[in-house]
Amino acid sequence: MRLHNYIGGQWVEPKQGGYQQDIDPANGKIVAEVPMSDGDDARLAISAAREAFETWRKVPGPKRGEILFRVGTLLKERKEELAQYMTREMGKVLMEARGDVQEGIDMAFYMAGEGRRSFGYTTPSELPNKFAMATRNPIGVAGIITPWNFPMAIPTWKIFPALVCGNTVVFKPAVETPYLAYQLVKILEEAGVPAGVVNLVFGSGTEVGEVLLSDPGVDLISFTGSNATGRHVAATAGEHLKRVSLELGGKNAIIVMDDANMELAVESILWSAFGTTGQRCTACSRLIVHEGIYDQLKTILKSRIASLRLGHGLEEHTDVGPLINQQAMEKVHRYVQIGQSEGAELVIGGGPAQDDQLSSGHFYLPTLFAGVTAEMRVAQEEIFGPVLAMIKVKDLDEAIRINNAVTYGLSSSIFTQDVNKTFQAIRDLATGIVYINAGTTGAEIHLPFGGTRGTGNGHREAGTAAMDFFSEWKAVYVDFSGQLQRAQIDTE
Ligand code: NAD
Repeated sequence: MRLHNYIGGQWVEPKQGGYQQDIDPANGKIVAEVPMSDGDDARLAISAAREAFETWRKVPGPKRGEILFRVGTLLKERKEELAQYMTREMGKVLMEARGDVQEGIDMAFYMAGEGRRSFGYTTPSELPNKFAMATRNPIGVAGIITPWNFPMAIPTWKIFPALVCGNTVVFKPAVETPYLAYQLVKILEEAGVPAGVVNLVFGSGTEVGEVLLSDPGVDLISFTGSNATGRHVAATAGEHLKRVSLELGGKNAIIVMDDANMELAVESILWSAFGTTGQRCTACSRLIVHEGIYDQLKTILKSRIASLRLGHGLEEHTDVGPLINQQAMEKVHRYVQIGQSEGAELVIGGGPAQDDQLSSGHFYLPTLFAGVTAEMRVAQEEIFGPVLAMIKVKDLDEAIRINNAVTYGLSSSIFTQDVNKTFQAIRDLATGIVYINAGTTGAEIHLPFGGTRGTGNGHREAGTAAMDFFSEWKAVYVDFSGQLQRAQIDTE
């Protein structure tokens, strides 16, 4: 199926007419053909969004919320179908794809409610017979740039709050997952989002993305992706004084103390490290383990990893799906070689799957390194694949110090039964998300999502934090005294 851009309420071909194949990473089959649009397509979408903004910003919030409610209902009705498309297009196993769609459903209903809340506040004026309030206001056109690893959840985390706040949208999804983006925008159209309010432009970051960053018609950029791209996005959009939110990479750790519930820790480690084949921003790629249980945990993990079943995500017994593409295979393997050359012990995995049945997909064996030290590159850099590095520590202080000694700050987790250790960890783990007795993944949509330090630029997504990014404050003073009253002067 050949996909089209959606601009000003019309499904249109890209001006220059180039297309690229959208491939199932598990077997190389073609899922769809994606337009490789150019800057002119992006500019058309921006002007459609600008024009629609004048009307959309005046639509009452509750009405905008009602449309999102319909979006949530449609997503819910089509959850299974969308999840199956997602597994084919992106590779994650079906159960996880269902979860990805569910995040979109949850966000639709949450943001539908924001249509009636969108709370501002009133506050006393310092002068008599004067009223003061602060209201939330739409900003304008939102440029939404997303990665491929959560093809439904991430776009919905951005588009739904943008819309409920009264902004219009130009959406540029990742080239690897266009079909899910297309399905989402079809649903928005069907739910009654007016023409021009959401526009979809497929294409590369360098052609379409760049225009969003620099065109004066775009007021804000919400970006999720790699650190390398994120720095460029911040610099370019910053040059044009656009508001920018960045959600970037992670190097997340699970700490396992010697009093941990081991069974629970093992299940959580496997889910956090090898779920989505390690291609989550919150994936656990470092395991910081108390020396008292280090060898025991290594032995258990080795045997559990050996029993993980690789395969197409639509197959019932598959635990781990493919990586997204050949470049990802090469990158992961390069890091495995780096780990070995740094002196880490390769416990299991360490290469592409050899099974003939998997040969037409991008399957990499779940990999465990032991004997890793905090400074090694495999313990510092984001690999974005099924590679876990075990680091041995003496006590909680050392564990926390190592947890924090990376440039990223997205998610961390600790397994302990000790309430004192728990609260020390909550206070001292320097990440935007902290889990106690749960792995590093599993964010819920009504809490703030995002990371400290190199994981972003301080914004948070989801929950009320999203409202803060997609709206701006207006301070309003109503003087009903009938005379000139000067703040700071007539107050004595
Ligand atoms: P990426 O940076 O390669 O691409 C992300 C998006 O940016 C894509 O749509 C891409 O086309 C676009 N892009 C590329 N160059 C651009 C440019 N010059 N101008 C504008 N846009 C441009 O990232 P990816 O490989 O798609 O995703 C994986 C990364 O995303 C990982 O680092 C992962 O940790 C991160 N991620 C972070 C979060 C989070 O919430 N913190 C969530 C998911 C993924």
